[in-house]
Amino acid sequence: MHELSLCMELIRVIEEQNRRQPFRRVRAVRLAVGALAGVEIEALRFGFTVAAQGTLAENAVLEIEQPAGQAVCLDCGAVVEVRNREDPCPRCGGYFPQVRGGTDLRVVELEVE
Ligand SMILES: [Zn+2]
Repeated sequence: MHELSLCMELIRVIEEQNRRQPFRRVRAVRLAVGALAGVEIEALRFGFTVAAQGTLAENAVLEIEQPAGQAVCLDCGAVVEVRNREDPCPRCGGYFPQVRGGTDLRVVELEVE
């Protein structure tokens, strides 16, 4: 499962943080998961519960934002937000050859105590 390995990577990042600046536990993790990242949010939440077991992040609250991607329509020049790669341009119905952003997963904030 793709989401589980993302979560295990996330736990690794948290442990790395803890080595640099020790804390007792993680209270909340705020993640930005791009709408085009191809990540299943429910699977991500489940993966996090599994991966966090027995770590500093056990029982941490997982907050997830889903920023949209952006694309420039080459047909009409419109700059629009894209939540789905298959969506056509809302202005002219053209398809976007490429999107900017909205495809990655990153930690926005780590709330620790
Ligand atoms: Zn267009």
